[in-house]
Amino acid sequence: MIPMVDLKTQYHRLKDEIDLGLAEVLESCAFILGPNVRAFETEAAEYLGVPHAVGCASGTDALHLALLAAGIGEGDEVITSPFTFIATAEAIRYVGARPVFVDIDPKTFNLDVDQIQKAMTPKTKAIMPVHLFGQPADLPRLQELSSASGLLLIEDCAQSFGASVNGRQTGSFGLAAGYSFFPSKNLGCYGDGGLVVTSSEEVAQRLRMLRNHGSEVRYYHDVIGYNSRLDEFQAAILRVKLRHIDAFNRERRRVAHAYSEQMADLPLETPYEDGIGVHVYHQYTLLSDRREAIMAALQEASISSAIYYPVPLHQQKVFKAECEGLSLPVTESVAQRCFSLPIYPELEHETIERIVAVIRAVLHG
Ligand SMILES: *Cc1c(COP(=O)(O)O)cnc(C)c1O
Repeated sequence: MIPMVDLKTQYHRLKDEIDLGLAEVLESCAFILGPNVRAFETEAAEYLGVPHAVGCASGTDALHLALLAAGIGEGDEVITSPFTFIATAEAIRYVGARPVFVDIDPKTFNLDVDQIQKAMTPKTKAIMPVHLFGQPADLPRLQELSSASGLLLIEDCAQSFGASVNGRQTGSFGLAAGYSFFPSKNLGCYGDGGLVVTSSEEVAQRLRMLRNHGSEVRYYHDVIGYNSRLDEFQAAILRVKLRHIDAFNRERRRVAHAYSEQMADLPLETPYEDGIGVHVYHQYTLLSDRREAIMAALQEASISSAIYYPVPLHQQKVFKAECEGLSLPVTESVAQRCFSLPIYPELEHETIERIVAVIRAVLHG
């Protein structure tokens, strides 16, 4: 079976570096908030072009802590995308705020900036765009709109490590941004892990307290915090992979462009690139009215495919009641036609050709 993502091949490619990093952690016996977490925070901040980076236990926690540290809470509203993983909206609910879903752009699958204004109310405190599948949202316009409206911009970068707009990294446009290092993400560790970045010294200081029981000085607690630390093993792995992230993302783009070129003549909508943002293809996601037939044929040929995401958030059981009557036609149409193909840096050209041949046979067969 050709998998959606191949973590084993990548591990073997980096085995010497990773095994050495892990062995050093074992020898040091410094397991929590030690030298690897500190070094990774510095290296990630430098890579992303932000002044502060704070490791935490997951991408979900990164978004939760970012909202808390930004002062979003009970009774507030946060405008976000309905076409994302549930964690985006969960984080908003954790702080007592309400997610307000705005329809997406049919080409980028990201928040439609033109529709945000009409969703604003006096309770709106922030906009949380998601750079879905590695495609940067329209950050220059989001930045302009949020500052003109007095709203905070907090980015969900769980799928966009290394993506950029006008040469500037996603995650560096807002007050804060959350990253996930779930194993299958573009920059993934070997367990759970996350990172919050921020442009504000004050927010960074709150984040460091919040992730560690509300404490800056050991056994002195200023606020109720959490146990949400990035651990030393994961940080050691991430330090190795960070050195290769540009190569990984380049290779993902090579795979994506090969798919798109080979399918250019087929009746499918392949991923869009606007020429300003650099898409890092966490997923290669396309649209077809014949999705079910294509996915069945791929399955038959031992090729994985997947639907991200089959049910938009406003139609999920958990949000159905509060979203009663909300119609988001672009999101609903995309969710019915989207499907994703295998993509990972090591995916070979011959395999891409094999996958495309199966799709071609369905559409032109
Ligand atoms: C993966 C993901 C998250 C959550 O990250 P975890 O590390 O799994 O908690 C949040 N938002 C989006 C868009 C994601 O893809």
